[in-house]
Amino acid sequence: MPVPLHNVSINTATLGYKASIRETVDAIAHAGFGGIAPWRREIESGAARTIGRYIRDAGLRVSGYCRSTYFPASSPEAWSASIEDNRQALRDAAELGAECFVLVAGGLPNGSRDLAGARQQIADGIAALMRDAAALGVPLAIEPLHPMYAADRSCINTIEQALDLCTLLDPSGIGPLGVAIDVYHTWWDPKLEAMIGRAGRENRILAYHVNDWLDPTSDLLMDRGLPGEGVIDLSWFGNCIRDTGYNGLSELEVFSKLLQNTPNDQLLKKCAASLTAL
Ligand code: ZN
Repeated sequence: MPVPLHNVSINTATLGYKASIRETVDAIAHAGFGGIAPWRREIESGAARTIGRYIRDAGLRVSGYCRSTYFPASSPEAWSASIEDNRQALRDAAELGAECFVLVAGGLPNGSRDLAGARQQIADGIAALMRDAAALGVPLAIEPLHPMYAADRSCINTIEQALDLCTLLDPSGIGPLGVAIDVYHTWWDPKLEAMIGRAGRENRILAYHVNDWLDPTSDLLMDRGLPGEGVIDLSWFGNCIRDTGYNGLSELEVFSKLLQNTPNDQLLKKCAASLTAL
């Protein structure tokens, strides 16, 4: 069954930042969607509080705020700077009314081959943000990324690894910590169904990102498909997510050079039409 529009959020990367954040909010609300996931580049030049009010007045929820500064760094000073940067972003996320702050954790520091060390820096970084996240009421959503990004974007690569990190840092399960599950990054995982089930039982699913894997894929970052254009069984995937009791928004996050060239009103119509695949 297609997901109703008001249960779907548009990640603004899908639209390619062609318009101002206010115009983008208007277009998404006008098209009938229920939420938006903005990026820091759109918010940090303006006032998060004012933009947050503008989004709420348009009747939209903020399914997530994208995204963290990478944690792994070449020096303790650079690591601390990343924490401070993330604290400011968390404050902005709170003013936006974001339902989570998305953590894309980072890969290896420049010139490093120390994968275990990078993962430790990520764990320490998330631990350092938990008190702020709790005080601000913005949960931290660890987004595992496909392993092809382990070197440069995130060396947290499976739902299981992200859940283990949640258990380690928040063993009681009451902390502001969970996972963002993106179909693009996780569809290939032989443990997918089991780990979605575990994430649900542990009450950790904070966001669900939807798009499709094109075959062939011409670019590993900017060639995602709209739902239904690729090889992921999104109907099955969505049922798995909803069977856990997750009732948050489904966020359309389609990084695509090709789609970005489409005018926003037409592109949002295409997005709406693609929901039948969910
Ligand atoms: Zn995502």
